[in-house]
Amino acid sequence: MDRPAWAPEGVDMNRASPARMYDALLGGSHNFEIDRQAAAEGRQMVPDLPRLALSNRAFLRRAVRFMIDSGVRQFLDVGSGIPTAGNVHEVAQEIDPATRVLYVDIDPVAVTHAATILHGNDRADAIEADLRKPDELLAAARGTGLIDFDRPVGVLLVAVLHLLQDEEHPREMVAALRAAVPAGSYVAISHLSSAQRPEAAARIHEESTSGIGIRFRDRISITEMFTGWDLVEPGVVELPLWRPESERDLHETPGRSLGLAGVGRKA
Ligand code: SAM
Repeated sequence: MDRPAWAPEGVDMNRASPARMYDALLGGSHNFEIDRQAAAEGRQMVPDLPRLALSNRAFLRRAVRFMIDSGVRQFLDVGSGIPTAGNVHEVAQEIDPATRVLYVDIDPVAVTHAATILHGNDRADAIEADLRKPDELLAAARGTGLIDFDRPVGVLLVAVLHLLQDEEHPREMVAALRAAVPAGSYVAISHLSSAQRPEAAARIHEESTSGIGIRFRDRISITEMFTGWDLVEPGVVELPLWRPESERDLHETPGRSLGLAGVGRKA
């Protein structure tokens, strides 16, 4: 298999990655056969998986618009993924072109593609960093000069924390980012959950052969990730129920979503 330009040396084209599998679910073109197989396997177990991905993207857009309405003009998007329709800088800069966005991902394909599409945009950038090493991540983010950590930041942790295992302490990683941003900052979290459909979550957990370790968590564990943040209404809810703006936002049937989401403000 030839290595495409968007896949830097070192990317293992025979091992599925969460970023590329998610891209495949969303109908993107930055994925390999192994990622498409992982996406197909997921769809076989849970046929509405692509709807879940769309529902999650719709939550991301609503959360960004909410934060902009609340005065935030800079975003730190951690686990940002491979750029697709409705990226944070597009949503935010459409409302206020001065908004700054720093994308952070562990996956070189995500970072390379983001850097390519951001070429010429001096208010958005992408860096490779690991959420499990928040000090290094924050140092790299500061090094870009793009984010002013003395002003409110919109921290986006959308569909990434379930890729951290319990022993990787996802709650502490959220707390470390919280400590780095001033009062008036916000965090948006979406997370795969066993709350609505425990049987579907168990099936993916037990039968998946992709090697991608997903940790479905219950509502209490996900809510605890907002410790120290004031949850804004309606709290931690199913993805389509977080401030839906129109029928189009209802990619999933309420009561059936495999994702929970919320937004918190640092007082
Ligand atoms: N946030 C985007 C969204 O919701 O549409 C993309 C979500 S995608 C399912 C999860 C992303 O998190 C992937 O791009 C993956 O590479 C990234 N990721 C996984 N573990 C990470 C880590 N430890 N540090 C930074 N990014 C990570």
